[in-house]
Amino acid sequence: MHIESFYPPKRTLMGPGPSDISPRVLQSLSRPTVGHLDPLFIKMMDEVKSLLQYAFQTKNEFTIAVSAPGSAGMETCFVNLIEPGDKVIVCRNGVFGERMRENVVRVGAEAILVDNEWGEPVDPHAVEKALQNNPGVKAVAFVHAETSTGALSDAKSIAAIAQQFGALSIVDAVTSLGGVSLLVDEWGLDAVYSGSQKCLSCVPGLSPVTFSPKAVEVMSQRKSPVQSWFLDQSLVLAYWSGEGKRSYHHTAPVNSLYALHEALVLLHTEGLESAWQRHSDMHEKLKKELESLGIEFVVNEEHRLPQLNTVKIPAGVDDAQVRNQLLQQFNLEVGAGLGKFSGNAWRIGLMGYGAREENIALCIQALREVLSQSK
Ligand SMILES: *Cc1c(COP(=O)(O)O)cnc(C)c1O
Repeated sequence: MHIESFYPPKRTLMGPGPSDISPRVLQSLSRPTVGHLDPLFIKMMDEVKSLLQYAFQTKNEFTIAVSAPGSAGMETCFVNLIEPGDKVIVCRNGVFGERMRENVVRVGAEAILVDNEWGEPVDPHAVEKALQNNPGVKAVAFVHAETSTGALSDAKSIAAIAQQFGALSIVDAVTSLGGVSLLVDEWGLDAVYSGSQKCLSCVPGLSPVTFSPKAVEVMSQRKSPVQSWFLDQSLVLAYWSGEGKRSYHHTAPVNSLYALHEALVLLHTEGLESAWQRHSDMHEKLKKELESLGIEFVVNEEHRLPQLNTVKIPAGVDDAQVRNQLLQQFNLEVGAGLGKFSGNAWRIGLMGYGAREENIALCIQALREVLSQSK
């Protein structure tokens, strides 16, 4: 057997994540590894927490990065807040809403579904109705930015309705964090999780989460222990905030956390509002260019995510062949359709560091060439 070092090509990542990573973030990964209980590392972790509080726009003390991808952030919220027999409203308008339902069921709780069509946002009135019809619901779970369809839901309104009924809100902000307006405290969101590899443009494998004081209270009053040892936040917290005497829980992914720190420094330097505006501006540019190629969007203009553009594959075009040519000839990755949209839509990401003019220019030039070849 003769296997050599792996040198990947330099792709331009314009799919649903991972997104393009800034050279500054990539460089931070190759800095010397220190111990995860090293005082200097702990200081850096405190900064990660402050920077995450900024990104989430929250004062929540319980704001950390779970050492695993976004799906683990999702699971963290469900296994810690939900107990067997609880009732949870799950809004389902794409793949990730369905994944939330799976989580609820596996915890042994009852999932009450509020379904909306793929490509449409969650309907807050339907959530309100479901709460009226089901007294005693513990939480309302929904996806803020549905990456499988490109639709943005009104997190503020849905959370306000949940609050009126005394239910917690559990919010998937994997694709929204850093890409569109997300105000955790102002909107009263209780449990919010995200991912490192979407609009934060960091390496995959970390999941920022934040819990409101109300959510922390609910966790502290559990009747049963969390069935997952690794994701049990009462244990993890002893590592993240053991005031001067942090104790070992698991080995933190030290270098990945350097990268998250650097990505969050970049976001803080740019400013959250400026980052949101940049995503919106780049989306407008991409939209004009795509329309000039005759390519149509799946989601209504009003509910479109700027960072994830789901478009209809033009008639007569071979999906897999075009994406393969984009990859081989242009080193460009665009996302395939997922679930119901498989084979009939592409998902063009403009996430984080990837939301810039060079990427749009490359994408349009590449699509123009490849589509003209395929006709
Ligand atoms: C990507 C994504 C996830 C899952 O994140 P992983 O890091 O792939 O586990 C969950 N929800 C949404 C909305 C996503 O876009």
